[in-house]
This record gives sequence, C-alpha cells and structure tokens, in this order.
Amino acid sequence: MLTYKAPVTDIKFLIEEVFDYYGHYKKFPEFDEVTPDLGDAIFQECAKFSENELLPLYQSGDKEGCTFNEGKVTTPKGFKKAYDLFVAGGWPSLSHPVEYGGQGLPASFGLISSEMMGTANWSWAMYPGLSHGAMNTIKSHGSDKQKELYLSQLIEGKWTGTMCLTEPQCGTDLGQVKTKAKPNGDGTYNISGTKIFISAGEHDLTNNIVHIVLARLSNAPKGTRGISLFIVPKVKTDGQGNLGESNNVTCGSIEDKMGIKASSTAVLNFDNAVGELIGLENKGLECMFTFMNTARIGTALQGVCAAELSYQNALIYAKERLSMRSLTGKKFPEQVADPIIVHPDVRKMLMTQKTVSEGGRAMIYYAAKIVDEIEMAKTDKERKIADDKLGFITPILKAFLTELGLEAANHGMQVFGGHGYIKEWGMEQIARDARISTLYEGTTGIQALDLLGRKILLTHGRSLKIFTKEVLVFCKDKSMLSSNPHKRQMNKFIWPLSKAVANWQQYSIRLALKAKKDRDIVGSASVDYLMFSGYVVMGYFWAQMAQTAYEKLADKKLENRDFYRAKIKTAEFYFERLLPRTKSLAKTMMADPKTLMQLDQTLLSFL
Ligand SMILES: Cc1cc2nc3c(=O)[nH]c(=O)nc-3n(C[C@H](O)[C@H](O)[C@H](O)COP(=O)(O)OP(=O)(O)OC[C@H]3O[C@@H](n4cnc5c(N)ncnc54)[C@H](O)[C@@H]3O)c2cc1C
Repeated sequence: MLTYKAPVTDIKFLIEEVFDYYGHYKKFPEFDEVTPDLGDAIFQECAKFSENELLPLYQSGDKEGCTFNEGKVTTPKGFKKAYDLFVAGGWPSLSHPVEYGGQGLPASFGLISSEMMGTANWSWAMYPGLSHGAMNTIKSHGSDKQKELYLSQLIEGKWTGTMCLTEPQCGTDLGQVKTKAKPNGDGTYNISGTKIFISAGEHDLTNNIVHIVLARLSNAPKGTRGISLFIVPKVKTDGQGNLGESNNVTCGSIEDKMGIKASSTAVLNFDNAVGELIGLENKGLECMFTFMNTARIGTALQGVCAAELSYQNALIYAKERLSMRSLTGKKFPEQVADPIIVHPDVRKMLMTQKTVSEGGRAMIYYAAKIVDEIEMAKTDKERKIADDKLGFITPILKAFLTELGLEAANHGMQVFGGHGYIKEWGMEQIARDARISTLYEGTTGIQALDLLGRKILLTHGRSLKIFTKEVLVFCKDKSMLSSNPHKRQMNKFIWPLSKAVANWQQYSIRLALKAKKDRDIVGSASVDYLMFSGYVVMGYFWAQMAQTAYEKLADKKLENRDFYRAKIKTAEFYFERLLPRTKSLAKTMMADPKTLMQLDQTLLSFL
C-alpha cells in the first residue's frame, strides 16, 4: 500500500525563502490579502484532502479502472464522492476570477494545490486538471456571455471541461484536423467529426461537460491557418445554466491503456452538435497557444508528482528491507543483514529521485510566478515579456521533468527489487502512470523541436540570452569575486554552473551555424539539446536552494537546521552526479545527423 505525506516543509521553503512568493504577491493589489497565514491554511487543508481522500483511491482506481457501457462512463468507486468533496471545499474556484464566482487567489496557489492532489492521485486529478484548461481558454478568449455561462459553471465545479484536439489521423500535426464546423446563421455552428484520446471526455462526476473543440470551416485555408475553436457542451442549456436536451456528442468507447486507468480517455463523436465560436474564425490555434504554456506546466508537474510519490515510498522500503552487509562493515550488527539503504547503488537511486523531485518542484514554482505575472499583467508589453519568458522555459520543463520523473519512478521500482514489479506495492503503477507524461501535451521530441527550432533559432536566441543573463547575474553575485558571505561554500556550485551556462550559449551558436548548412541537425540535436538545457536550468535552482540554505544556517538560532543541511548535501549530489550528464549530451547533440539518416529506409531491416 502506497503512502503519501504532502511535502509542506519543502513547499514553504521554496515559496517563502527561495522565491519570496509573498513579496511577489505584493506587486499586485488584487493579492493584498494573500498572506503566509492564508497560504499555510490553504496548503494544510489541501494536504489533508490529498492524503486522506485522494491517496486511498489511487491503487483501487487503477485496479477497477473506468467502465464503459452504452455511451456512459463510470469512474472507479469513490471518485465521485471525492469530486463532490473537492467542489464543496471550493477547490475548483481557488485561482479563478471573482466576477465569475472564483476566489481570485494567485495561479501559483492553484499549481501548488494541483501538485499535492496530483501526487496523491494523478488519474483523479486529471478531471479537474482538464477543466482548468477549458476555464483558461474561455477566460482568455471567450465572450462575456460565454464566460457568464460556461466559466461560472466550471469554476463552481458543477460542470467539467475537456480539450478536444486529437483525431485518429493527427495528434502532433493539428493542421490535419478534419472535424467540420458549419455556420447555422444564428451565431452558432454545427460541429461534426470524431475526436480521440479525449481525457475526461465522458464520466459520471458531473451532469454536463464543456468540450473545447478544434474544427474547420468549409471555406477555411488548409493547414493550421484554417482551424477554429468552439465550445460544445455535452448537454444543451437554456443560456442560464439549466440543462436541456442532449447535444449529439456521444462517447463511442474509452481506451484500455497502460496507465492512468482511472482517467477516462474517450472517443467522442460529434454529430451536428451545436457549438459556439471562441475568438475569431481560423484563429483557433492562436487561441490555444496562449494557454498551452500553462497547460504544459501542468503536465511538467506530473514528472515531479511521480518522482515525489515514488521517492517517499522507496525511502521507507530502503530503510526496512534487509540485504547483505554494507561494504564498509556491518551497520546494524544486531540484525541478520543491513537495510539496503546502506548500499551506494540504492543511495544513488534514492538521491536521484530526491533531486528530481525537489529540483523539479523549484523549476515549477519559478514558472508559477511567471504565470502570475502573465495573468496580472496590466499592459500588453508586460504580458508579452512574461509570456516570452514562460514560452522559453515551458518546453524545457514539460519534456525534461517528465523524462526525469519517469526515470525517478523507474528507480523507485528498482529499489523495491522484484516487489517493485508486483502490483500490490504500487510502485509499478507510478511508473505506468508516469509514462504518458512524455507523450501527451506534445511529445518530448516535439517540445525539443519547439525549444531549438522556434525558441532558439527563430528568435536568434533572444529568450536564451535573457534567461542565461539571469543565471550569470546570480553566479556573479554569489561568486568568489562578490561580497557574498557564503562565497567559499558556494564556489563548488557557482563554478560548474557558470561553465555549463557558457557551454549552453556556445552550443546554441554552434548548432545555429550548423543548421544553416543542414536542417536535419535541428531534429537530430534537439532532444539532447533540450535535456542539456534542463540539467543547466535545474542546476541554477539547486544552486539557489543551496545559497538560501547557507543564509538560513548562518542564523545560529535557526531551528530545523537538518532540513537546510540536507538541502546543501542534495545540491552537492546534483552537481556531482546529474549535472555532468550534460557532457555526454553535448557530444551527442553535436554529432553529424548523417549517422541517423544515411541508411536508406529499405535497409533498416532484412526481415
Ligand atoms: C492517455 C492519453 C490522453 C490524452 N488526452 C488528450 C486530450 O485530452 N485531448 C487531446 O486533444 N489529445 C489528447 N491526447 C493525445 C495526445 O496529445 C497525442 O497522442 C500526442 O500529442 C501525440 O500525437 P499522436 O499520438 O498523433 O502521435 P504522432 O503525432 O503520430 O507522433 C508519433 C511520433 O512521431 C513523432 N513526430 C511526429 N511529428 C514529428 C516531427 N515533425 N518531428 C519529429 N518527430 C515527430 C512524435 O514525437 C512521436 O514520437 C491524449 C493521448 C493519450 C494517450
């Protein structure tokens, strides 16, 4: 049986001491009343809800899965009750606008709560998670009337939402979308087509579902320029939120999947379903892009959640499971053998999980502050600056953290030995559930192309320059040349970090030059380049956490000193054991694409 305790100490360390969230909230008059006391109260409640209501449904939900019967989907036992409690607790409205019934708290608060709920039960958390995506779309691009009707019902949690992009012939290449939209002449459109893989597409948690659907008008240009975005409710309403007749959206089936079995993944058939346009005709993809960064941060979180849950359980097991003796002599002579935690290889797996979970959390919380800045921006210029910053870091977070989250979940299984493979312990479930995170919301390969192709090469590295400048200013400020009182201790982090940043800049330039001669280098280097970038970015946050820990430890009266000492030791592990992975990534990313492409496809197999 898996256990989970929300890492409230670590969360408070990040938001109060590393990132000064409460100082950041002061910049926005709307967050006047957001104080540490309020934050503590909310996060304690969220921890209780996640630990007591969601975790107990995690393994049972996987075992039971969702069931499909004549177009209806039943979620596993307990899911509906937990959802009702979630609504009664006001969680759906936490960080949404007051004028539509929300509590108006910062988006960053929403993300922290999502982390706890997602770690306790990712499959369950997907239902409100998808709603969140739908709410953000309507909030950013919907008309006042649409917000009045749909946003307020979603914020109240009475209805949930979906994102309907994928079709049988396309997931990545949305330019191939075939779903049709036909104007009815009264401002509405008839939507017809089939969408697949729709998370939360059909379920029994609420009596209506608001589908956000990509579709194409008959006279629309081909490709991505001809796609529009529509709101299509499962059940028609009278415009006041009262439900009427069915809207011809039927669930054809649900997928039988490797993991996240308690999350329904639906095939939806739209048969002249009545929809309303969001934004302008043929500008659907642009509308999607504005909230995609936040949706992708939500998926990046899945990596952190998987690492955290797997680590917490692997740690308990490693302290209890006895096997052979420590290489440096018996540590527990009174027992028949030492616990496996004494073995360096087991330690390496646990420490990797710990660095991924805590370092990943820091990366997400850094991004969450930028999300607040975007949402609270008063001018287009302010919004654009924050948007560019988030746009640059998003593919790194999404792909790097989900790849590392999966690695961490695999380490968790390995720590359990053969028992890690047995369902009862829950460790294999974490790995199965985490596997999807590198696939949906844009695969790792697609995130990597976005980073190197669009965010670096197309903009001549503008955002990279801004971000690396921030890191180098930090390095200079904390270096041997500065007045930083902890400069001697910090040197072990600052020196390799500065070097890694310089390499990141150089490799970016070298790839840009190579790409002028051979475009295939972009595709052949991109995933390695993204992972390289991820290790540098995580290094920056580990160095920041170490600096904060040194500052706190300088106060002789500080309690909980071990927490801060552990942070520094974990940062040391990161810099010795994970950051050096950049060296091999640098080598492979610069390799000639020829070795990938030279073999004619007819020669790839001789079967
Ligand atoms: C459980 C689950 C839940 C999902 N939830 C939703 C949802 O709620 N809403 C929704 O709309 N969709 C959803 N999806 C769909 C998901 O987002 C897509 O499956 C994903 O984006 C990949 O698309 P695809 O499956 O068509 O793969 P493809 O696009 O066919 O890609 C196949 C492979 O080719 C690679 N590839 C493709 N194009 C390129 C290129 N140009 N360069 C390099 N490599 C390339 C990809 O990286 C991948 O490795 C879900 C999928 C699953 C399995």
